[in-house]
Amino acid sequence: MNFFLLYYCIPSIIGNICLTWVEKESNIYSKGEINMTLVNNQFILAERPQGMPDGNTFNVVQKNVEEIKKNQILIKTLYVSVDPYMRGRMEDAESYVEPFEVNQVIEGGSIGEVIESKSNHFNQGDLVIGSFGWQEYFTATDKDIRKIDPTLAPITTHLGILGMTGLTAYFGLLEIGQPKKGETVVISGAAGAVGSTVGQIAKLKGARVVGIAGSDEKINYLKEELHFDEGINYRTTKDITKDLKQACPKGIDVYFDNVGGEISDAVFTQINRYARIPVCGAISAYNLEKVDVGPRVQTMLIKNSAMMQGFTVGNYSKKFGEASMQLGQWLQEGKLTYRETIREGFESIPDAFLDLFKGNNLGKLLVKVAEPQFTDKK
Ligand code: NDP
Repeated sequence: MNFFLLYYCIPSIIGNICLTWVEKESNIYSKGEINMTLVNNQFILAERPQGMPDGNTFNVVQKNVEEIKKNQILIKTLYVSVDPYMRGRMEDAESYVEPFEVNQVIEGGSIGEVIESKSNHFNQGDLVIGSFGWQEYFTATDKDIRKIDPTLAPITTHLGILGMTGLTAYFGLLEIGQPKKGETVVISGAAGAVGSTVGQIAKLKGARVVGIAGSDEKINYLKEELHFDEGINYRTTKDITKDLKQACPKGIDVYFDNVGGEISDAVFTQINRYARIPVCGAISAYNLEKVDVGPRVQTMLIKNSAMMQGFTVGNYSKKFGEASMQLGQWLQEGKLTYRETIREGFESIPDAFLDLFKGNNLGKLLVKVAEPQFTDKK
């Protein structure tokens, strides 16, 4: 079982937390019959991309939604998550999660509404999370999905700060980075879903936090809204090494790496003795057609007795419950905040995905595919 399935199907512990900041939405739909001539639009992987995906990479196909059988649940997709790791799944290469198959639906985290159920555990109108991906309808069994409670927090948070990206930030920083009061934490990809959460948790732990991101708007967000101590715009800086020196006068104790490449090369020159480097992602390399080669890191690690460790969030699946509780509590207490960039419409999913590589998102990038049809906001 891959970790995404594992994650989407663990029982929701955060559901038990009494969050007080309930966000009410105004659309209330009356219950009704579903039309069984539903057509399911699906984005499939048409071919494996070389370099940056383009118009040939994805294709839309239409399938009639078949009548569900005993123990099955029909779900209408409401929100789809687009994530950088999906680019890796487009390669035919062994990894921690299986490659997408050509001509099959692109899988990924999604939130949907149960529109018909022949399972004893789900009812019409239930909101659920699963890995049903880039399609408008999904036929599930109990093990594919879990319920989410729309009264605790906006449902989209289950794809972001209370979901996979929040957990990634939590474990990468606290288990590997282990920031201590007064230490300096540098984060690349700092204004994205993972990075923005990492920085806030590092602040909660009393660290000096420096974020690296790709626009002045993002740097302002990091400093003004998230209270980062410093921010560096890597696209406009004349000398990132000099800027890092200024922003980190006592050197760097923790580097949370989301991007790899030349940004990381510059950070590595300034790490302190016993520095910790959680390697979360390397987005700068995901679309490269040739292997990226930079300065060798061994000497830097030896000289500083530093520790560099790659990880995937699935490594910590046994502790998801505990971490979700803590993230939910920090949200409730106003100690954590988040942004979402939400694109509209099923057809915009591939462009939204490509926006991740252009930096066209602040916080978690999602696509809203449909409004709920049956969900009463109880
Ligand atoms: P983000 O919300 O951070 O979106 C991606 C961001 O990456 C963009 O907004 C862009 O911001 C930045 N970016 C894109 N291309 C480049 C580049 N060439 N150089 C530098 N920055 C670039 O995505 P996530 O928060 O979901 O993911 C962040 C990282 O974490 C990714 O590398 C992802 O693969 C990894 N990840 C790892 C997990 C794990 O289990 N290890 C789980 C989840 C995510 P900007 O404007 O600043 O350039």
